[in-house]
Order: sequence, then structure tokens, then C-alpha cells
Amino acid sequence: DKPLVEVSDLGRIYDVSQPWLNRVIERTPRRLLVAAAGVTFTIGPRETFGLVGESGSGKSTLAKMVVGLVPPTSGEVKIDGVSMSRTADAAQRAKLRRRIQMIFQDPYASLNPRWRAEDIIAEPLEAFGMLKGREHKRERVAELLRLVSLDPADGKKYPHEFSGGQRQRIAIARALSSNPEFIVCDEPTSALDVSVQAQILNLMRDLQSQFGLTYLFISHNLAVVRHMATRIGVMYLGRIVEIAPARDLFKAPRHPYTRMLLDAIPDIQNTGKARKQIEGEIPNPITPPPGCTFHPRCPHVFDRCRKERPALLPAGTAQGATQVACHAVEEGRITVAPPLATTT
Ligand code: ATP
Ligand code: MG
Repeated sequence: DKPLVEVSDLGRIYDVSQPWLNRVIERTPRRLLVAAAGVTFTIGPRETFGLVGESGSGKSTLAKMVVGLVPPTSGEVKIDGVSMSRTADAAQRAKLRRRIQMIFQDPYASLNPRWRAEDIIAEPLEAFGMLKGREHKRERVAELLRLVSLDPADGKKYPHEFSGGQRQRIAIARALSSNPEFIVCDEPTSALDVSVQAQILNLMRDLQSQFGLTYLFISHNLAVVRHMATRIGVMYLGRIVEIAPARDLFKAPRHPYTRMLLDAIPDIQNTGKARKQIEGEIPNPITPPPGCTFHPRCPHVFDRCRKERPALLPAGTAQGATQVACHAVEEGRITVAPPLATTT
């Protein structure tokens, strides 16, 4: 299958210098924060690509670049073969916008509190000129509310009259209104109770098969991503360190960081506690470690890791389905990252 989404060498640098400092101390060096660098992956039609990583690893920055809310400082995103970069054909990009939607983490912040649910849901339809009069709007909103298991009468209510889960259902209805093919979901259930989380995830899966949707599904929670994704990318300090089919990632994680994330998933069947805590701190992204940025936390570190940045290279057997950025894997020092010694 031809990919629907092609992300190539995408990067975003933020200038976090404090301009006032330049006036006090002359020629203070600029402080640059690399939020994302060299991010490359594709998503096939009807696929769910999961993206995991700790807080600050660059997931939201990447999500916003993919939908065009944040301009990249390098690289490019193509959707259905059309470049989303600001220098590309504006008419073609305008036609694409209807086909791409985003769902955010916080349904409290992402819904306008002064608008009725029906107007929130119909907003993309207005924006893209897809409405044919009031009756059409009423019918379409009722249909969308039913799709997310809400009552058409709920359209008259305001966001504060709904629960967190219901609000996220409205955000989903809104995202679906323009008949998109591709939806970027940035931690869509992270603000919800666990029982409500499962309902929303199942709804999203049902809608995916009903409408043939393609998802970029972002979460810091590997268990949630496992439930949703066909392939998973693992991010660390703005870079992808491993991409693998979901099943392989859980069965045979290759990057030592992936292993660390897996070991930190709570063992629900037995103790309910994480088998192993994630060790060490994420380095400051303004002054990242040289070489492999994970090397200060890595149990398999050797000389080369401190000097040379590893490239994301095919690993394993299945024709490049798995890619890993790790010198230890590349040199065959480790094939499947072994479990860390369990300490209690
Ligand atoms: P979280 O799990 O907390 O949502 P994340 O993986 O989504 O984290 P981002 O929000 O993409 O991470 O942030 C990545 C890095 O970029 C962080 O170090 C963050 O402080 C920085 N950053 C994000 N947005 C900006 C901005 N507008 N200006 C400066 N720095 C930013
Ligand atoms: Mg985020």
C-alpha cells in the first residue's frame, strides 16, 4: 500500500534565549532547544501508528507539525503525496485540510466554553463551506452525536454540562464532521478516568473501521498505545529510537530504552506495581548528551555511543519492518534487549 502520510527528516528547533539578557550582558549565546530532529516514518491508509515517549520527548511538537499547526524548521510532511510545507502549492494544501483533523488531550481546554455542542461540532463544516442551510446543519450534527453515542438533544448543551468522557466524545464528533481520512490524536484519553478511557478507545477503534480512518495515536502510556496501534514509534529527546510492528515491540523490544519503558508498565495481573522504575532523568534538551542521547542511562553503553549519534537502521528479519537507532544493536552486541536485572 502507498503510504497516506510521509514524514521525512522532520525537525523543530525553538529559540529559548531570553532577549532581555542580551541587553544586560552583550552577546549572550543563543539557547536552542531541539524539540524534534530527524523524525522519519510513514503511515499506511487505515493504519494506526502509535507514538510513545516520556514527557518532553517531543510528541506534541511532532503532532502539531504533522497537522500544520507548527511550522517545522527542517524536513517535510506529505499527505497523499502533497507537501504540507508553506512553500508548496497553497491550493493543493487548502484542499487537504478538510481531510486532516486533530483530537487533543484536554477536552476542557479544546472546546470553546461559550459555544453550544452543536456549534462546536459544526465549526469545521462552516469553515470548509460544507453546510447547506440550517436544516442540513441540524441533521448532520444529530447524526454525528449519534455516532459518538450522545443524544441529538445534547447539541443544545454547553461544554460544562458534560462529563470529561462526554466532552471527548464531542471533540471526536467535531473531528469527524468534515469526513477526514487522517486524525492525529494527541493523548486523547490521558485526562480521563481509566474506565472512561477504555470506552473512548473502543469508540475510536469502531469509528476507524466504520470510516476507514488513519490514526497517528500519541500517548506516554504504552499499554494504551498497544491497544490501538498496528506499528509503534518510540521517541526519546526529540528523536525516534525504534519503530516496530506493535506485536514485535512488546515481544522483542530492541532498543534498550524501549525495554526500559516496557519494564515500567504496571503488572496488572500480579502486583499492580511496575516491575521496574524508569531509571535516571531525561537530560536537558538544550544541552543534550553527545553521541546517542540515551547513553548516560543505558546499561549497554560502550565507547562509540558517547561519540557518534546512531542512525535509525533496519533490524531483525521482516524486510525493514523494524528500525532501531542503537550502536549495540547495529554491532550485534545485543539483538533483543535483555530484561534488566530485577531489583526489589
Ligand atoms: P508531554 O508528554 O509532556 O506532553 P511531549 O512529548 O508532548 O511532552 P513537547 O510538548 O513536544 O513534548 O515538548 C518537547 C520539548 O520542546 C520540551 O522540552 C518543551 O519544553 C519544548 N517546547 C515545546 N513547545 C515549545 C515552545 N513553543 N517554545 C519553546 N519550547 C517548547
Ligand atoms: Mg504533549
